[in-house]
Amino acid sequence: MAQVEIIPLGGCGEIGKNMTVVRQGDEILVVDAGLSFPTEEMHGVDIVVPDFTYLTENAERVRGIVLTHGHEDHVGALPYLLEEVHAPVYGTELTIALLKRKLQERLRAEHLDLRVVSAGDRFGIGGFEVEMIHVTHSLADACAIAVHAEAGVLVFTGDFKFDFTPIDGRQSDMSRFAELGDEGVTVLLCDCTNVESPGWCPSERTVYAGFEKVFNEAPGRILITCFASSVHRIQQAFDVAKQFGRKVATAGRRMEQNISMAAAIGRLRIPDETLINLNECDKYSDEQLVILTTGTQGEPLAALSLMAKDEYPRMQIVPGDTVIYSAKPIPGNEAAVWQTVNRLFRQGARVVYGPDEGVHVSGHAYQEEIKLMINLTRPDYLAPVHGEPRHQHHLVSLARDMGYSDENIIVMENGNRLVIEADGAYLGEDVVCGRVLVDSGGFAGVSDEVLRDRRNLASDGVLFVNVAIDSDAGKVVGKPELVARGLPASDGELDRLREHIYDALAALSHAELRDTAAIHHDVSDLARKFLRKEINKRPLVVATVTDV
Ligand SMILES: [Zn+2]
Ligand SMILES: [Zn+2]
Repeated sequence: MAQVEIIPLGGCGEIGKNMTVVRQGDEILVVDAGLSFPTEEMHGVDIVVPDFTYLTENAERVRGIVLTHGHEDHVGALPYLLEEVHAPVYGTELTIALLKRKLQERLRAEHLDLRVVSAGDRFGIGGFEVEMIHVTHSLADACAIAVHAEAGVLVFTGDFKFDFTPIDGRQSDMSRFAELGDEGVTVLLCDCTNVESPGWCPSERTVYAGFEKVFNEAPGRILITCFASSVHRIQQAFDVAKQFGRKVATAGRRMEQNISMAAAIGRLRIPDETLINLNECDKYSDEQLVILTTGTQGEPLAALSLMAKDEYPRMQIVPGDTVIYSAKPIPGNEAAVWQTVNRLFRQGARVVYGPDEGVHVSGHAYQEEIKLMINLTRPDYLAPVHGEPRHQHHLVSLARDMGYSDENIIVMENGNRLVIEADGAYLGEDVVCGRVLVDSGGFAGVSDEVLRDRRNLASDGVLFVNVAIDSDAGKVVGKPELVARGLPASDGELDRLREHIYDALAALSHAELRDTAAIHHDVSDLARKFLRKEINKRPLVVATVTDV
């Protein structure tokens, strides 16, 4: 019986860039291919994707990529992965519909083999049997994935919660999880994002009451910002607008596109005569209007961010407007989000945000739901994923309380290789993994060195040092020239540095002064060390050597 390996390339010990390899013999299946967002010190970096060298090296072995749902942290790296690895992509209708346009923008048609599957489907991919199991989440059409391999059954929960009153009436498929538990689950890879929250995650439906309260109090227009992919949230916005006799307009391209796409595939029911064009708003009074807008993460070019700066050509914020912030900042985006919120207040709007207002709920299971998932599937091994180390740690203690022993709880990091054989599981040798930084131009591969230079430049500025050498004569010509920008050093300090470099060069032999490459290196090094020691600064140092 062939062993099966589970190798997370992203999403373990972090929230974001979920991507897991399942390997059986010479065949590979990939579950999700997501991105994460840069931290604040990653200057000029737009997105972060997993380092999938392991997959490019094994490209011909990849039989398929299966997606749990359409959130960026599960699908955002696909355009990059599909450039290197040509394999069919499987996902539910909404997942594929959300992806399609983005993939078409970047990839040639022959690299796109998108296959729509449905919850409840069970199909073969190479030697694997793959099963899609419906779960509730903040995004519709989300699935857990069961992989039936020779050495056992692996269950990936994907992002899930147990919402017993879902907007589309489709509950998490508890009975299938229970059946799998009866049949025997070898490993459960469980979403542990909200494991610190006791109890049960509130139902998506509770947001309606939060909206209703705001609608009752709003004197003028109501703007609602949420993820453009959150069709259930958007559904509730339409329904509450209808209840209050308001029309709904959209601001932001992605919002507009997703609403028409979701309505076309039956995932969104737009009440009759509710949706209007943004240009038609002046036909209605302020208290007859709702505007659904993009910009939950303070993205600089999103409609709401532009409105907050009074730079959105199609609409201005006016006193009396109410803005419902129906989302949560993703870690790393907090500063941009609060800046937008502050600007909206400054424009005279009232912004409704935060956990006490009831206008947003999470899409991830709380403690009791995680326990329920473990109880239904009763896996031999439990692996916490979709969480930082603190979340993984909490899941371990929760599982201990449920009677799991430590050898049956496997805390993985990215690049670990969990080997499962018929009689047990163990961690094998790691594979190459890490992160790849993609800049705003779509260039993948901003190195750590470039990042360090940008960080130094941002915090301590730049120093240009030019030295003139007469290499034929083997001597230094004049004193070095120094130009500093953004470096808080006094003229006196720079004068001392100039003398320091000059003295060091003057002490060199004729032969040493002929080696301009070595001088270039030495000058940079001298300047860096001097500034670090004397004024505790680490600017970017750019040295040039001119041979006169
Ligand atoms: Zn998600
Ligand atoms: Zn996720």
